[in-house]
Amino acid sequence: MSQDSRYETVIGLEIHTQLRTRSKIFCGCPNQFGSAPNTQICPVCAAFPGVLPVLNREVLNMAIKTGLALHGQIRLYNEFARKNYFYPDLPAGYQISQFELPIVEQGELMIEPEGSPRKRIGITRIHMEVDAGKNLHEGIQGASWVDLNRTGTPLLEIVTEPDLRSAAETGAFLKKLRSIVRYLEVCDGNMEEGSFRCDANVSVRRWGATQYGTRAEIKNLNSIRNVMRAIEFETDRQIDRIENGEKVIQETRLWDANQNLTRPMRGKEEAHDYRYFPEPDLPPVQLDPARIEAIRATMPELPDDKFARFQKDYALSDYDAGVLTASREMANYYEIALRASPADPKSVANWVTGELLGRLNKEGLEITQSPVQAESLGALTAMIHNNVISGKIAKSVFAHMFEHGGTPQQIVAEQGLSQVTDQGAIEAEVDKILAAHPEKIAQYRAGKNQLLGFFVGEIMKATRGKANPGVVNELLKNKLAP
Ligand code: ADP
Ligand code: ZN
Ligand code: MG
Repeated sequence: MSQDSRYETVIGLEIHTQLRTRSKIFCGCPNQFGSAPNTQICPVCAAFPGVLPVLNREVLNMAIKTGLALHGQIRLYNEFARKNYFYPDLPAGYQISQFELPIVEQGELMIEPEGSPRKRIGITRIHMEVDAGKNLHEGIQGASWVDLNRTGTPLLEIVTEPDLRSAAETGAFLKKLRSIVRYLEVCDGNMEEGSFRCDANVSVRRWGATQYGTRAEIKNLNSIRNVMRAIEFETDRQIDRIENGEKVIQETRLWDANQNLTRPMRGKEEAHDYRYFPEPDLPPVQLDPARIEAIRATMPELPDDKFARFQKDYALSDYDAGVLTASREMANYYEIALRASPADPKSVANWVTGELLGRLNKEGLEITQSPVQAESLGALTAMIHNNVISGKIAKSVFAHMFEHGGTPQQIVAEQGLSQVTDQGAIEAEVDKILAAHPEKIAQYRAGKNQLLGFFVGEIMKATRGKANPGVVNELLKNKLAP
């Protein structure tokens, strides 16, 4: 199957981000993953009769932070709502969420999909809600377990406008959003473990059509790669249906990563009627604008601002600035390296995005696990800048640091790699090489200019790459002049 260019894909996302608070949203139980079943619960978690929820103020702060980072309107008066449904992992019989008056509305996120211009994606709303427990179906014959540890985990649901138009844009959006929640330290952004979960609403329409097509909502997407694959599959599936004269049905579908397809889960007729109403056990949230300003003042520099500053202060390309601000850790690494080599921001950027990231990717390591410290990479760049070593030798020093540790100063000293800039020493080598190739000198003087490279190469070989290339070139040109 292939994408049909007569159709356009339309995508809107609903993202559940699990907040990294110490305690749960409505009680004092620890907000912790991986404990033995039903050990992180209390009567509020288990919804005993008569218990009352109390809102964790940190959840509110994180919701405001996220709203500000996404340039949303913070609703000073917002309220919780009860979303009623039955499921064994939901002992209360309802989920506390927000409905008509969510805490954030009308935000936006700018994305930079590879090879396309920057694009604005609207954020419809962000609301606070509580997670349910988990049903476990393994390890017992003909029965299921219920683990309520996850009950009470605070979530932010972030809903986008149907502004995305391709799998690539959606991938760029999710990467950017994940980077922001990580910058803010509100969520660890781990899709595999389910702390950053995305449902994708997908529809197709003929190019130029003004109405949206009927959408399917796809669940069970546990990586950005899977979200992108599911969108591609779903686009083709819907186009095939339309081309065959069938209708796209509004339904919820599940992504099957093993078989690379989506399958129906439930249709519209099975859709719940949640009977939302304002949550009677919690007072509406009334925010003081001063609180919002206080939170704004504590916000870290976010990727877009960092991107602009890196371009302005360090004259970096879009590409370099994009890679270097993709995560807070990456940006920190770069700026620490730069302190050791302040005169050369472009070279430091090249070393980080090229040699270092290339090697880290190959070894499957994160920037935080780099065996080469930022200070050392900066020192290495400075040594090239100051003509202590050539770029070529720097690569071998880098490889040595990556594999065996050490600082570039140490390695260069121990292995005697310092560049030879002494005019007399280099001249002796130049004379030796020239004496060995009288025929090539004649050819050069007869107009075969490219032989200069040959001579340079021979001299570098003879000096094990340590001769300063500038001095070598200078000497050669003088001596070869007719
Ligand atoms: P619901 O609450 O039933 O899921 P919403 O109107 O809140 O419905 O929409 C949820 C998501 O679906 C939003 O992200 C929105 O952008 C997206 N969406 C709505 N209509 C379409 C469509 N025709 N094609 C793709 N996505 C859509
Ligand atoms: Zn509890
Ligand atoms: Mg939905």
